[in-house]
Amino acid sequence: MPSHGELPFWLPQACPPWCGQSHTDADPPQRRQHASAPLAEILLTTMSLNAAPGRYYTRVTLIQGYRETSPLLRISTTKPLICTLDEAQQLGTALMDAVRLGRR
Ligand SMILES: [Zn+2]
Repeated sequence: MPSHGELPFWLPQACPPWCGQSHTDADPPQRRQHASAPLAEILLTTMSLNAAPGRYYTRVTLIQGYRETSPLLRISTTKPLICTLDEAQQLGTALMDAVRLGRR
């Protein structure tokens, strides 16, 4: 979580409000980005028939490099995305929620 005190030397300004990361001076360049906690994690029933519950998911997060001016939306999936209409609706809602959060 960003502190309101001192920032790491590489971070020119405070984190965006959605950032859930801790940042330190020791962060290597590839880890110098803001990232939200998962904004949505949708379990996909069509992918979990032969797997432990919760093994397959689609996850939506916001990320932003420390030198970038706006966030990007990251959609992570464990397998190709095949979903029911209800799951697709959840994903659509999660994407729009993330876009609204990123534009604040
Ligand atoms: Zn941050």
